[in-house]
Amino acid sequence: MQIPGLVDPVPVPRPATTRADGKTAIVGLSRIRLREAFEAAGMDAKAAKMRTSQVWNWVYHRGVTEIDAMANISKEARALIDAHFVVGRPEITEAQVSSDGTRKWLLRFDDGNEAECVFIPDADRGTLCVSSQVGCTLNCRFCFTGTMKLVRNLTAGEIVGQVMLARDALGEWPSSQDGRMLTNIVMMGMGEPLYNFEAVRDALHIVMDGDGLGLSKRRITLSTSGVVPMMARAGAEIGVNLAVSLHAVTKEVRDEIVPINKRYGIEELLAACAAYPGANNARRITFEYVMLDGKNDSDADAYELVRLIRKYDLPAKVNLIPFNPWPGSDYLCSPPERVERFSSIVFAGGISAPVRRPRGRDIMAACGQLKSSSEKISRADLDRAAAEKEIGWTEVAA
Ligand code: SAH
Ligand code: SF4
Repeated sequence: MQIPGLVDPVPVPRPATTRADGKTAIVGLSRIRLREAFEAAGMDAKAAKMRTSQVWNWVYHRGVTEIDAMANISKEARALIDAHFVVGRPEITEAQVSSDGTRKWLLRFDDGNEAECVFIPDADRGTLCVSSQVGCTLNCRFCFTGTMKLVRNLTAGEIVGQVMLARDALGEWPSSQDGRMLTNIVMMGMGEPLYNFEAVRDALHIVMDGDGLGLSKRRITLSTSGVVPMMARAGAEIGVNLAVSLHAVTKEVRDEIVPINKRYGIEELLAACAAYPGANNARRITFEYVMLDGKNDSDADAYELVRLIRKYDLPAKVNLIPFNPWPGSDYLCSPPERVERFSSIVFAGGISAPVRRPRGRDIMAACGQLKSSSEKISRADLDRAAAEKEIGWTEVAA
């Protein structure tokens, strides 16, 4: 049954457009699809198989961007590939480095749409925050991405392309070298990854491929706002770590700040977490919890959080995220003492609840502030659109 509310039931209003030059981008194609594409371009089956592994190695292991640089491929084969394919990288339109070492890239795709990608270096790891959509249809009330007007799914190539660009910028080819800075990936940029399931899955398979980028699934985390029906598939078909944007423990508050809750409620979400394959004490589920002053940060909220996690016997940790205000946002960040108190209650309940340090604030690289220069709509416009939709749905249902 469809429940009227702020949730947009059409996650993909605009498909990606094809390249203007008619060529196919290699980045983003699975091995099988690449082989098929080589055959379609005129190679026989044996040649297509051999060229696929050679090209795969050049693209994902060595990071070449030109087909002509693929030295062990004959001139004729290179010419054939070049006539039909490009390696394919998004264009960087802006690159910024924060005083704390965080880097942010604004990327432009072939159809002119833009998304952002952020690299956060730490002492023992470097995490790349990758976007899955341009904008997001889910309108979480504290999230800047939810205010963006343009929304489309990114292709698998555009998602993998973010990792390739980061490798380029960090000088980390070939991908087998020791001491790499980029060690971890989080699908926590713009967009809801489980509303773009196939592309995210295909992209992450390429990122995890041992003959290429080679990141272990233990070093990749997918964050969802709670698209419950897709969570089991994510576990079975991708198998990376799971993070869930919980942010509230009562129906009333979560309905307000994470509107997808009207469709998939807290209990349903936690049950899906309990069923998530591979979750155990060594690979815990992360609950993200943004600290909003006077909204979701009381002692009672903290106790309820512990109770819920225990009720479902979840191997879990909680990340407390200080709210990052943006121009026009409705909330304030909880004061530091409140955040500390909340954290200590959850810790006392036997659940790790570290407070996340905001990174890259000087370049607006923090969560929910990505692509700050993009087209936006006001909160009032969003509410009006939602109200109109609600009326529309009621009429349809009646
Ligand atoms: N759509 C997915 C992943 C992208 S959002 C999701 O919602 O999980 C990544 C994280 O940043 C989420 O936990 C999100 O709730 C949080 N976030 C969004 N806006 C924020 C803000 N202004 N301050 C702090 N965290 C924010
Ligand atoms: Fe979308 Fe996640 Fe932002 Fe919600 S928090 S609007 S799901 S990107």
